Amino acid sequence: MNIKALAPRSDFPLLAGDPALRYLDSAATTQKPQSVLDAIGGYYKRENANPHRGAYALSGAATEAYQGARDSIARFLGASDPDTLIFTRGTTESLNLLAAAWGRANVKKGDRIVVTRLEHHANFVPWQQLAVAVGAEFKICELTSAGEIDLANLNELVTPNTKVVAFGHVSNAIGTVNPVADIVAIAHRAGALALCDGAQGAPHITVGFDSLGVDAYAFSGHKMLGPMGIGGLIAKRDLLEDMPPYQMGGDMIALVGDNATTWNVLPHKFEAGTPNVEGAVGLAAGVAYLEALGMDRVYAHESALVQYATEQFASIEDVVVLGPPPERRGGVVSFTLRDVHPHDLSQLLDAEHIAVRAGHHCAQPLMRSLGVNATTRASFYVYNDSSDVDALVGAVARVRERFAVAL
Ligand code: PLP
Repeated sequence: MNIKALAPRSDFPLLAGDPALRYLDSAATTQKPQSVLDAIGGYYKRENANPHRGAYALSGAATEAYQGARDSIARFLGASDPDTLIFTRGTTESLNLLAAAWGRANVKKGDRIVVTRLEHHANFVPWQQLAVAVGAEFKICELTSAGEIDLANLNELVTPNTKVVAFGHVSNAIGTVNPVADIVAIAHRAGALALCDGAQGAPHITVGFDSLGVDAYAFSGHKMLGPMGIGGLIAKRDLLEDMPPYQMGGDMIALVGDNATTWNVLPHKFEAGTPNVEGAVGLAAGVAYLEALGMDRVYAHESALVQYATEQFASIEDVVVLGPPPERRGGVVSFTLRDVHPHDLSQLLDAEHIAVRAGHHCAQPLMRSLGVNATTRASFYVYNDSSDVDALVGAVARVRERFAVAL
């Protein structure tokens, strides 16, 4: 099998500088193309000033760079109203914003919050703790034996007192791609909000926010070629307008009286303090790179690698690949090798310059239900090719040979 990379390694300085590296941890964070590094450097060389605050031209240029980035990232995500894209530090902050600002104002004792067994801790703990704080019920939708959301169970759990259904677009731990439309329909039928953790969706799948149906969608820039420390929350305008602010300070106010304050318009109401302009500009360059590749091709490329890796692993005794069949998974292959601890396995792979993730993948409730403490996870992106899969599978086979007696 020869699956060529979709994007040349030479575009990515870190990969170009380390030809032996097999980087298979893009679900954790992606490598950055030169164009992203150039955009960040260019911003500091030509436009840096505090945006929104100065009457001088340079501050205007910084404001334009920041707004321009918002416009292009909103367009990429299919949101026609860019002012409903709130920049945050990333998915974690976006979900905490929702749970803290919207949740505290709207979820009361006796209400119900529903999450799923697939969730990353970032889309689990804020809701669990909100429920504990206000005395709401906290329910977890279980999975089918294939590792997919059990829609019948979701239907039962989403009762008329349910205020929110929080779910991921794609599981970071086992790759399940969730049926967003079905979940939204169940949530909305009960009058609940449908909130989507898109950390593993936006980098890999066309999001199309306006037609997706969810009330809010959270994402992280560093998982989609952008820098760390920038991401966002896109939400329906009325949801954001009706919600109290999350953090207080500069930029998010309209008028500050001695005893009362009014809020600025969107998006500023939710962006207190000096914003991360370099992050926004860098992420806009990352998004431009993905747009040039085409998101349909990105998804097809990852699917081909996942399919190939799953087939290759099937020939190694004792390797178990978790999650749904490859055609219903994102760019993730999560596996166990019998009694070899994933941490040991990942260290042995590292000795062959193969970087994979090992652990619970910030999804302990999921690991418990799968009956494992941890898995080893390879995740693919645009710069990977089938030789990365061959290297991984070959190295895992050698580890198995080494431990064969013990196994
Ligand atoms: N949700 C999912 C599904 C993730 O994969 C991650 C990161 O791995 C997060 C949330 C948290 O993202 P961040 O650490 O960028 O805030």
